[in-house]
Amino acid sequence: MTDFPDKLNKLLEQRKAEDSLRSLETAKRLVDFSSNDYLGLARNPNLFHQSSGLLETMKIEESGATASRLLSGNHRLYQELESLLCRFYKAEAALVFNSGYDANIGLFSSVLQRNDLVFFDELIHASIRDGIMMSHAKSYKFTHNDLQDLRQKITRSLNPGSKKGAHTIYVVTESVFSMDGDSPALSELTELCQEFGCYLIVDEAHAIGVMGTGRGVLLHQSLENKVFARVVTFGKAMGCHGAAVLGSGSLKSYLTNFARSLIYSTGLPPHSLATILKAHEFIVSKEASEARKSLLENTGFFDQQIKAKDLRARVIPSDSAIRSCIIPGNKRVRQISKELADAGFDVRPILSPTVAAGTERLRFCLHSYNTQAEINGVLTILAAALQK
Ligand code: PMP
Repeated sequence: MTDFPDKLNKLLEQRKAEDSLRSLETAKRLVDFSSNDYLGLARNPNLFHQSSGLLETMKIEESGATASRLLSGNHRLYQELESLLCRFYKAEAALVFNSGYDANIGLFSSVLQRNDLVFFDELIHASIRDGIMMSHAKSYKFTHNDLQDLRQKITRSLNPGSKKGAHTIYVVTESVFSMDGDSPALSELTELCQEFGCYLIVDEAHAIGVMGTGRGVLLHQSLENKVFARVVTFGKAMGCHGAAVLGSGSLKSYLTNFARSLIYSTGLPPHSLATILKAHEFIVSKEASEARKSLLENTGFFDQQIKAKDLRARVIPSDSAIRSCIIPGNKRVRQISKELADAGFDVRPILSPTVAAGTERLRFCLHSYNTQAEINGVLTILAAALQK
């Protein structure tokens, strides 16, 4: 084996963010405050058996897609799934990608053109940033959820002398932010975009399955027709894998021709497609709405407990399943996460540079299957650790 380059060793020394990788088996012994499996669907055997059952009924016995969707990999289940996604999310068209990461880099790298402007929330997910970086558009970040700042930046970009309409302007946000768990004022944002003729793109990764009736925040607020594109992902509350871009038929055709992460990657295997189909059936079932109710009770109890334990000033307020407790400093937050793991709780530290230095945090993901005793237990230990 050849040497590992010194330069890379130095970078690794500086970062060392990944030494918190725990095996799944270890994580399984701990109480889950870390996975995105908000409703327990990823580990629900019914979903697994229902998707296997669908494959059996349809006499599908292939394990792999065999090639890109543009070659031989466009399994007939894709068409069925994309039609269901259109009905489910009230979209004109849906295009399934292999993951949310692939959907975002495919969408942003292909749609944004040289001289276009893109304004993105400063806390936007890395996959969107990467997609923007792969394009030749000019990008500007705006202060997190601050529409006043966004307005100023758009206005400035139009002045002076720049011809309105000479370039296309895009605005990008998430309906639930992955690290802070909070949400932008989407209705006001769509109005602002309308006023300036901007195209709005919203990533709904952490909203799907949990917010509203499980179909995302935009649909819940009847704003689905006010955006250029929605990105929905299936690896979180939907308990499986993959993602889709929802938008117009023209957008779908465009992406099919230009999104390189779709064109140059092997398609999803039939079992994944069947699972996504069945997960969408589950998410509107009585069982799922009970799970959402129980999740809501748990987030309410968590908020009550952080108040009782005097932790409220550290925790970012949110209506989602995510609660971030700010504990500045990579070393300290990692140490406290370890103390919680030793006591049986899996709460992951989020370190800089994934988040800005000084905002390192413990990111609690709450679930329908957490118990109030577990929530009380983890917060009691956290409060004691913070006193030290
Ligand atoms: N968008 C957001 C907001 C995310 O949080 C994530 C996952 N961390 C992704 C996209 C990527 O999705 P996937 O895990 O399916 O690649």
